[in-house]
Amino acid sequence: MNENLKIEPIIGLEVHVGLKTNSKMFCGCDAFYFGQEPNTHCCPVCLGLPGALPVPNKKAIDWCILIGLVLNCQVNKESYFERKNYFYPDLAKGYQISQYNKPLTYGGWLEIKSEIRSTKSETNSKSQITNIKKIRINRVHMEEDTGKLTHAEVNGEKVSLVDFNRSGVPLVEIVSEPDFNDTEEVVTYLKKLHQIIRYLGVSDADMEKGTMRLEPTINLKISTSSGKTGLRGASTKVFYTPLVEIKNINSFRFVKQALEYEIKRQAEEFAKTKTVKTTGNKTTVGFNEEKRITVLQRSKEEANDYRYFPEPDIPPMEFSQSQISNLKSQICELPDTKIARFIKDYGLTEYDANILCDSKDVAEYYEKTVNSKQTTDNSKQITPKIIANWIINKKADISKVSPEELVKTIQNKTRTVSLPDEELEKAIKKVFEANPKAVSDYKSGKENALMFLVGQVMREIKGQAEADIIKMRVQKLLNI
Ligand SMILES: [Zn+2]
Repeated sequence: MNENLKIEPIIGLEVHVGLKTNSKMFCGCDAFYFGQEPNTHCCPVCLGLPGALPVPNKKAIDWCILIGLVLNCQVNKESYFERKNYFYPDLAKGYQISQYNKPLTYGGWLEIKSEIRSTKSETNSKSQITNIKKIRINRVHMEEDTGKLTHAEVNGEKVSLVDFNRSGVPLVEIVSEPDFNDTEEVVTYLKKLHQIIRYLGVSDADMEKGTMRLEPTINLKISTSSGKTGLRGASTKVFYTPLVEIKNINSFRFVKQALEYEIKRQAEEFAKTKTVKTTGNKTTVGFNEEKRITVLQRSKEEANDYRYFPEPDIPPMEFSQSQISNLKSQICELPDTKIARFIKDYGLTEYDANILCDSKDVAEYYEKTVNSKQTTDNSKQITPKIIANWIINKKADISKVSPEELVKTIQNKTRTVSLPDEELEKAIKKVFEANPKAVSDYKSGKENALMFLVGQVMREIKGQAEADIIKMRVQKLLNI
């Protein structure tokens, strides 16, 4: 009898983001720990010495709520901190101040573009359809970071060193629902989240420095059906493989690799036994970046084990509607809105607008340049599109060249255009006639053909015009 197997990954994500406040979450210590002398940014509070009292950092709380709001979360009007108890050498207090029952914000979502890969060749020749998918956000809550362990060798002896500079740095945890069915979706979501957080200016979200850390959870839904579906005698069984959490990953590439490894491993495990162990426990694994495999760390971990209870030293927090509205009004224009506006206002392609808006600094620089050109003469030829091309293709160094200087540079370059419009058009038409295949290739979507045509025109007019201008004129004449 035929047996059909359908494997569907179920992936959720926990993302930790270290905020760039000046001071730590519950004390006045300098929160900037990266590259500092170990154990120099510590006090009785962040070391958890007896009698020390934590005082919450208001800015960190506001920023956490801000992240929740842009992720469409509700704000808990009453919220409180809890102690998450566990023992580990990087946690001097023996507990981490976190949130469990009443996170600052909950119940939001983030929309991502997801490619649906069609398996059947349908009338539409395209095999991918772009779909908007809503990833639900379970919560965005506030907690504190732990210290950092380093395993080293001192006087020939293997030791673990602990640095508490990071202990107590404000950390926001963003927990998604298990809504991802594919590793590409995970990466798309992470890139978007990373971009939004950087736009808000609340964190550098620098993965190399550990200010953005990723923890996916994954298991598989495996459906087996024997016989033809819909016929009598056909039977379908559904299995769920045990849940695995992959700890502390620091790159989008590693997340993808770790998840792909787990998908394969869990599917193979199932193939061996044709059943799954239903212990109900979550397994924690680490990712070995060199071998690209996951490694078992702990086999059982439940919320119960942490004995969460309300932090007795910090009173509960209350938020009024006006406080929440005030925070909402501080939200800057976010990437999606900016991209749409750039396409509409400046006539950019979606591709160019995406590149320019990838970073807020570049997007702002671009707009300043576009606006500064309107105040100068000889600006006819310098369209927003040309400026976009300069920034994207010529990689204008925005840290060194001011928008005004960039306009001048572009103008100086375009001044060499001594060719009258009609001459340029004549040359282009001549090239079209001589290269009908390149023209039809370009019309059917082959981008390379455009560069070829531009090159031919350039030769024809002996370099008397900017490639960008020729490119635009060629596109215009072909109605593209
Ligand atoms: Zn401190």
